[in-house]
Amino acid sequence: MTPSERLGHVWLVGGGPGDPGLITVAGLEAIRRAEVVVHDRLSPPELLREAPEEALILDAGKSPDNQRMTQEQINAALIEHGGAGKRVVRLKGGDPYVFGRGGEEAMALAEARVPCTVIPGVTSAIGGLAAGGVPVTHRGIATSFTVVTGHEDPSKPEAQVRWDALAHASETLVVLMGVERLEAIAAAIVQAGRDASTPAALVQEATTPHQRTVTGTLATIADVARSEGITNPALFVVGEVAALQPFLDPARLAPLAGKRVLVTRSRSQASSLVSALRLEGAFPVELPAIEVQQRVDDEALRDAISLLDASGYRWVVFTSANAVEVFLDALMQQRDLRAFGDTRICAIGPATAQALVTRGLRPDLVPAEAIGEDVARALVARGGLEGARVLLPRAELARDVIPDTLRGAGAEVDDLPLYLAAPPAEPPAEALALVRGGHIDVVTFTSSSTVRNLADLLGGDLSPLAGATVACIGPATAETAREAGLTVHVSAETHTIEGLVSALRSYLHAQPSPVEVP
Ligand code: SAH
Repeated sequence: MTPSERLGHVWLVGGGPGDPGLITVAGLEAIRRAEVVVHDRLSPPELLREAPEEALILDAGKSPDNQRMTQEQINAALIEHGGAGKRVVRLKGGDPYVFGRGGEEAMALAEARVPCTVIPGVTSAIGGLAAGGVPVTHRGIATSFTVVTGHEDPSKPEAQVRWDALAHASETLVVLMGVERLEAIAAAIVQAGRDASTPAALVQEATTPHQRTVTGTLATIADVARSEGITNPALFVVGEVAALQPFLDPARLAPLAGKRVLVTRSRSQASSLVSALRLEGAFPVELPAIEVQQRVDDEALRDAISLLDASGYRWVVFTSANAVEVFLDALMQQRDLRAFGDTRICAIGPATAQALVTRGLRPDLVPAEAIGEDVARALVARGGLEGARVLLPRAELARDVIPDTLRGAGAEVDDLPLYLAAPPAEPPAEALALVRGGHIDVVTFTSSSTVRNLADLLGGDLSPLAGATVACIGPATAETAREAGLTVHVSAETHTIEGLVSALRSYLHAQPSPVEVP
């Protein structure tokens, strides 16, 4: 079957207000199966990474000054690709039918007889305001809301928006695309009879790391916006609900909300930390300070595996999940898990133990504290090290405490460097700029090498982090952070990602609340 014989389909997908986590499950599924994605400027850019690698990505982004694709060109592109048998996703910000011209696109597709499905999205008009701390309705305060475009100049006689009627149509009035005409719009609403003292608020770039909220009244909001430098995209809301904002500000409701949290783990390991932070309303900023570069001495590795297979080791000690991955990948090329035979296995902590279990090996020993000293102590306490051989597959340049202590107890230690935890060759520029600009609220370190490598990435100057809360996974990492000149605020007692997040939450929760209810 040639592509043109296949019936294509276009999904008009609402991408949500900005946070990639706010797309629907159905929308994400459509993107993951797309052959063509046509996206807007306001659709969350992270979602494009979810498309298959071979998918064609078209940017229809229409910024006011840089007209890239006209609506006719967009319709034509959807019809062309959908008509050629492709699975096409038309990705939009918010909901496709709220000022998104989605209706026009669906009509054009129907006319061209290209099948089309609308997947609704969280509109910024409601969800973006909620994220900024403004409920569009509230018991006893607002029982209705109106959403209107602020795109038109209210003073033009041909204006379609009837501000005089809208101003009283509902308690809450939400204006999209209104930042540029804020003064004229606020004046039109006052002129229509709403009191100049009516509360008003603006939420800029809702649900993104750049989210900002300001409050005022119809009389003051344009001045506030100007002095605070509020820019597009922003939501303008008028009504008593805007006065609730200080009390429902996300930062007041949860300790991590709205905080920019620097994640320095390698990208492949960052996901559990990133998703835990996102669920708490934080904005993770990923600056992987570690890139795992394999540094395998093939001959030494082969010899170690042969000796393991010949029951030559009493213990194999894993001090990181990376070491587990690299060592077992190599083992599976030469032999299989039976090579371990009766050899005892030690894992430094729960994450390394989990990596082993995932690969089908249950460790015999996991010390209480996930630090080198404890590993060495626990092994010595088990006894029988005199004359025993121990394999230590691990990172290059790792600390000497384990091999030194075991040798001191009479063991023969094969230190087998497998990889180097190096700073990345190309660190993400945007994250680096946020750090350098002093915009990070919390820094997380999950190992000593993340501290050292971050310092390297910043040219040895950690001063942009002086105002940030510093959270470390354990005492060894905390010590390295102190040596690098940082003040450590949080050192997790449970040396896992959950332990780190939990300690950080408790620390921030104990800080004074930004706003108290009167
Ligand atoms: N279909 C979109 C709206 C598109 S119109 C939706 O349902 O949300 C574009 C306007 O939406 C912007 O000018 C701004 O007023 C608003 N907007 C969209 N995303 C926003 C965000 N993350 N923060 C604040 N306003 C946003």
